[in-house]
Amino acid sequence: MRVRLLEATENPEELICLGARNDYMSDWVADQSFEDAMAGVEGEDVEAQKANFLARLLKRGHYGPFEHPSATFAIEGASRSCMAQLTRHRHASFDVQSMRYVSFDEVDPAAVEDGEMVVTPPSATDPDWVGRNQSVEDVDEDDVARREAVFRRSVRRSVEDYQELLELGMPPEDARFVLPIGTEVNIVVTLNPRSLMHIADMRAAADAQWEIRELTEQLLDIAAEWCPLTFEYYEAEMKHRKNRLAP
Ligand SMILES: Cc1cc2nc3c(=O)[nH]c(=O)nc-3n(C[C@H](O)[C@H](O)[C@H](O)COP(=O)(O)OP(=O)(O)OC[C@H]3O[C@@H](n4cnc5c(N)ncnc54)[C@H](O)[C@@H]3O)c2cc1C
Repeated sequence: MRVRLLEATENPEELICLGARNDYMSDWVADQSFEDAMAGVEGEDVEAQKANFLARLLKRGHYGPFEHPSATFAIEGASRSCMAQLTRHRHASFDVQSMRYVSFDEVDPAAVEDGEMVVTPPSATDPDWVGRNQSVEDVDEDDVARREAVFRRSVRRSVEDYQELLELGMPPEDARFVLPIGTEVNIVVTLNPRSLMHIADMRAAADAQWEIRELTEQLLDIAAEWCPLTFEYYEAEMKHRKNRLAP
């Protein structure tokens, strides 16, 4: 899976600060320079003031100002299962690659067997991988060895069946019913820092599934460059404290 930033608000942390400073000033925020708007905030220079102010907002739970900036990410090759988890979050905007208009008629089923088009979970190939709700006691070494073969055979067969249904004239919107939930999809998602921190609260946590955890970590890495002070504070002080942003 790959994640890239498509577009984002410039100077997002200035915008967060201005939004919040608006709450505490009698003058109109739009008439102020950033330096003037930050006057009175503790810090040697404006960068230190920004860092202190953002940390104070997060510490107090004043999360509203973190909704003003937004970032749009392009995600390539998530499974439909991961997509179903991500799109449960309602404070985000999505575009999802359509299986009605994009058909996989040219994909080589042998390539699918080798890992194209369908995400291969680590438990299919890594005998030491232990996932949630796994009945480890009941599985012997032969079973572990056979997992990969069964998984690969199954995804290949479903793509072969899908392509045969297309050849038999079935529309892609119906033939797709036989494709696995691991089928890859490209997603465009727009988030604000608050919604991203909330998603990370839930999806970077140890009890979330490996794929959405990996996706969330990639989003957080990009966000750390886009909103460095906010996500540095989040990483150091807030991450892994579940539901900090939506009690
Ligand atoms: C480990 C894990 C396992 C899960 N297992 C399942 C499962 O088995 N089945 C399943 O269906 N789901 C499951 N989920 C999904 C989960 O229940 C949530 O639906 C999903 O994570 C969206 O998060 P959210 O509820 O915080 O809502 P978001 O849409 O992210 O909203 C953020 C916050 O806004 C507030 N909010 C949003 N909408 C409303 C509303 N209508 N009313 C009141 N407050 C609102 C809430 O405070 C909410 O926390 C699982 C999630 C995790 C992390």
